[in-house]
Amino acid sequence: MADDGGRPAGGGAQHNGNRDAAIHTRLKEGSLKLYELEKELSPVDAIRIRREYIQQETGTKLDNIGIFSIDVERVVKRNCENMIGTVQVPVGVAGPLLVNGEHAHGHYYLPLATTEGALVASVNRGCSAITKAGGAEVRILHDGMTRAPVFATRSIAHAKQVVDWVAAHGEELRAAAESTTSHGKLIDIQPFVAGTSAYFRMGFDTKDAMGMNMVTIASAKVAELIAQGTGAKLVALSGNMCTDKKPAAINGIMGRGRSVVAGIALSHDIISSVFKTNAATLFEVNYRKNLVGSARAGAMGFNAHAANIVAAMFIACGQDAAHAIDGSTCLTTVDPTPTGVYVSVTLPSLPVGTVGGGTGVDTQQECLKLLGVAGGGNPPGTNAKKLAEIIASGVLAGELSLLGALAAQHLARAHQQLGRG
Ligand code: NAP
Repeated sequence: MADDGGRPAGGGAQHNGNRDAAIHTRLKEGSLKLYELEKELSPVDAIRIRREYIQQETGTKLDNIGIFSIDVERVVKRNCENMIGTVQVPVGVAGPLLVNGEHAHGHYYLPLATTEGALVASVNRGCSAITKAGGAEVRILHDGMTRAPVFATRSIAHAKQVVDWVAAHGEELRAAAESTTSHGKLIDIQPFVAGTSAYFRMGFDTKDAMGMNMVTIASAKVAELIAQGTGAKLVALSGNMCTDKKPAAINGIMGRGRSVVAGIALSHDIISSVFKTNAATLFEVNYRKNLVGSARAGAMGFNAHAANIVAAMFIACGQDAAHAIDGSTCLTTVDPTPTGVYVSVTLPSLPVGTVGGGTGVDTQQECLKLLGVAGGGNPPGTNAKKLAEIIASGVLAGELSLLGALAAQHLARAHQQLGRG
């Protein structure tokens, strides 16, 4: 089996019976560790032998995991340790979606990697309504990736001294942070104190990178200076005030990554022709479900299924899938207007990038190319902002479609037709 470019399935592994048998023996004996295989073998051979070993040890056939076309040379160094193959996630497209952002302008086909039947069809319907209505308005309100080290201080008086020291040494700390990166810019340092613990939430403009590695490296430099200058003990480079990969009110209020808002005015005609419902019902579903229902449940997200679109686009486009949690904090509103409704989604935290992380994996890179955002933007930062605007517009499409389906009492029927085996 070969891909279109002639690369054999499994990345072109070279079988060598004697060598492979000897390596299996060493793995079995424990004199060679599974994670050490790349030291002796090319990545494709290391992946194949590791997979064969795991197959043997567990009695599980992994034939499909072993079929892939991505170039693993880079992946084993940057993206995945102890690799045995890939998992294939189906990718569908929704669109065209007309987006009227400050960075994204035009019609886009959204790549959605998912196994949830009905999701792509649903987003597609939302795209159709938005495009008919003239395109999604979308704006980035704030842009800053954060890291917040935690320091142990001797007393609350010392904690206050540390905060004051940081405020007085802002320029020095900024220069130290920016000495570690040619793209990142330190925007601000927000102090938080809890008893004898002091946290400094540092916000960075990371340009086209999602930036978690970039800001972690820069924050380490700053933290070192703070510890030296104040005598506070650096306990952890991440003190959870960042807040990474956990739902947190601070991200919702202060933003993290790209904070994006998208909206669309829908006429009575579009509401009835596309969604088979009316403005008053759409408004009521949003009010009683997304607002009152979420409040009653103590939810941190006031939306229908924003994380669905964020997760599917993140997986397709090489983003960190764990950040789908940030998508779940979306707030969806429906305002009645004289001509129909104005629907909006507010995503306070959308950590996205078009360089670094998983964006360089071949299949994910193709999805970024499909959106015209692969690699660094010109000027730097514009590609990541464009991606954020497109994803937020996709979330708007997903929210609209699900609200519409609920309003028309179509949700169960759609899943019965599209999502069942
Ligand atoms: P990265 O792959 O570590 O680094 C991206 C680098 O690309 C930047 O630091 C920058 O180098 C360079 N670059 C080139 N052109 C650029 C441009 N136009 N704009 C911005 N940077 C450009 O990626 P990252 O975004 O910093 O981190 C993402 C990764 O971090 C993901 O794999 C994610 O899973 C992982 N992650 C890490 C942590 C952590 O705590 N470390 C936490 C969560 C996730 P210069 O800095 O030299 O300019």
